[in-house]
Amino acid sequence: MNEFELIREFFSGKSPSRKDVVLGIGDDAAILRVPDGMQVVATVDTLVEGVHFPAGLPAEDIGHRSLAVSLSDVAAMGAEPAWALLALTLPNADEKWLADFTRGFLALAQRHAVALVGGNLARGPLSITVTAHGLVPNGGALRRGGARPGDHIYVSGELGAAAAGLRLIRNGIEPEAGERLRAHFARPEPRIALGLALRGLAGACIDISDGFFADLVHILQSSGMGGEVNVETLPLAPEAVELLGRAEARQLAFAGGDDYELCFCMPPSRLAQLRQRLGNADCTVTQVGVVTAEKSLRCLQTDGTRWVPDADTSGYRHFK
Ligand code: ADP
Ligand code: MG
Repeated sequence: MNEFELIREFFSGKSPSRKDVVLGIGDDAAILRVPDGMQVVATVDTLVEGVHFPAGLPAEDIGHRSLAVSLSDVAAMGAEPAWALLALTLPNADEKWLADFTRGFLALAQRHAVALVGGNLARGPLSITVTAHGLVPNGGALRRGGARPGDHIYVSGELGAAAAGLRLIRNGIEPEAGERLRAHFARPEPRIALGLALRGLAGACIDISDGFFADLVHILQSSGMGGEVNVETLPLAPEAVELLGRAEARQLAFAGGDDYELCFCMPPSRLAQLRQRLGNADCTVTQVGVVTAEKSLRCLQTDGTRWVPDADTSGYRHFK
């Protein structure tokens, strides 16, 4: 198939239709309508084989993951996902691979009513770039800069599970207990419902991609604040504790990265309202620390002694 046939076969008309898409795939660019009183949040992420995921990861996982990481940014802004663009660079037009990839991508798009409104196809080393757009009421987006002294620091879900899963994938071992860890890496679930529930409640929010510590530092620096974290309260995946031991699981929770959970700062008086908004949504929220006016980040254990992480905790860096 040539590229136009591939676009018709795999991408045109395959994603949810939305009334705000005036013109989707097929012209030089898409035309999108922004509802009155709303603003657009826009984000883009690239996944490169061998850098962001190991070579040989199943195409369906890559499809899911490439949209999930961009939707995670949309979630962190408190926005409702709306539109996506997909730029694919492929070594060859392997139709089986494309069918698997789009199945993963489109299943996630379907669940969040995201319309694929355009993209690009090129030949080259495997790399996937996804742009995602979301909608928020004017002025209502969650940012990194609004943490205040006395706010509690919260995280969603479990931390370190994806890093543990990646380790299992790399080492080629997939014991049964590892299947859920593997899924945390291969199929992260963007925290859309939580992001929406946090509107008007959280002063600061970020999605955890580089690692809990590194991303919390981003919030605190943007806010001009410091913090205190009790590392024994970091929510660990039981499977990670079972397979790696508690100490190593904690290290991965602290700095492993790829979690795509949300970390946010909020006055504790609002927690009940947040839980009410979340209802029975499948999303745990755990307090792991407190924001301080003193601009340092201290990591403590429950007995009050300092906790020092093992390795480099600065988060994943492409350029040192
Ligand atoms: P142009 O050359 O004008 O940029 P293309 O020929 O690359 O347009 O693409 C034709 C149409 O198909 C455009 O609307 C483009 O957005 C869409 N498209 C191309 N590749 C993809 C893709 N991988 N996923 C979704 N839409 C795509
Ligand atoms: Mg054109």
